Amino acid sequence: MASSDSLPYAKELLVAELAVQRASLLTKRVFHETAKGTVSKDDKSPVTIGDFGAQALIIAALRHNFPADQIVAEEESAQLRGDGDDATALRARIWDLVRTTKLDDDVAETGVLGGAVRSADAMLELIDSGDSKGGRSGRIWALDPIDGTKGFLRGGQYAVCLGLMVDGEVEVGVLGCPNLPVDDSAPLSADVGADATDAEGRGVIFAAVRGRGATSRPMGKGGLRESRAISTRPISDLSAASFCESVEAGHSNQGGAAQIAQKLGITRPSIRMDSQAKYGSIARGAGDIYLRLPTSKTYQEKIWDHTAGDLIVREAGGYVTDITGKRLDFGHGRTLAENKGVVAAPAAIHAQVLKAVQEVLEVN
Ligand code: AMP
Ligand code: MG
Repeated sequence: MASSDSLPYAKELLVAELAVQRASLLTKRVFHETAKGTVSKDDKSPVTIGDFGAQALIIAALRHNFPADQIVAEEESAQLRGDGDDATALRARIWDLVRTTKLDDDVAETGVLGGAVRSADAMLELIDSGDSKGGRSGRIWALDPIDGTKGFLRGGQYAVCLGLMVDGEVEVGVLGCPNLPVDDSAPLSADVGADATDAEGRGVIFAAVRGRGATSRPMGKGGLRESRAISTRPISDLSAASFCESVEAGHSNQGGAAQIAQKLGITRPSIRMDSQAKYGSIARGAGDIYLRLPTSKTYQEKIWDHTAGDLIVREAGGYVTDITGKRLDFGHGRTLAENKGVVAAPAAIHAQVLKAVQEVLEVN
């Protein structure tokens, strides 16, 4: 570890990867103990429990190590406060998970992450300290505790996402994808089945530091497992490329994506999966192109849905812009107010893909 200390943001990276790994242990517990089979009953509480629990654990680690940093996180704790039966039960359930989810390695758990949260009240305060407005100055973490909630509920893809911006530039990105296969040549599919969560051979942590490349490593339960460098797939023939897109038709225009694929001569069906697992997948060459095509004129993308993925793809040799060709600008606050949609692809083919996107969507 001594040599890695000389890398820029070495400590931030270590803390972020371990915090994401610990939070992923919590979300997997929630899935096993609460979520399985709840989708048909339309019970959203597993998402709520997992979201709040993972947010509390990650912010605890950030506060312990970087007390002056700001945090932009998706959730706030109002729903958990108060004396009503629902709030009391929800708070107790989340507190029980937060109190008892630990990395199985004392150096990582206590030495790096700072150990357990002190009390249920401290947990609520931690959750609420993710209320930064974001912006272009200083150190700001962006956190999505469970990205892809629909995937999480059905035992499909979801991601625990954490990125650090410094003066508006993303410097560190980490994605925990508990249900992605460790083996990147395994066939990709959105749904891995309820029994796959926590199964052997699944669970990947992607990470990147700006200017230092991107890595993946198997997700573990203690200290970090060994990492390897990853890269987007070199593509000479665009027609052999494959698309990743959202499962939710409301999040990206799937009809538009099909027309773009046709224009590019791509015949393979797109791989649909929830969450920033899409960014991770193209960063390791398990897919090639990720399009997020706006379905509404007014929707503003949230920074926590893209911070980590954007850096990981760029550090893996990809290029990421919006549909107008601009880089994603994370310095505008909690949303990507100045961007529309996302076009992510290996650098060598990005321009061709963007051109097709603009022709089909008539962007100008
Ligand atoms: P995905 O799993 O890639 O479909 O994206 C999940 C994310 O989509 C969620 O975290 C939401 O923040 C975000 N989202 C919600 N509504 C929209 C929308 N209308 N367009 C694009 N993204 C959305
Ligand atoms: Mg999200």
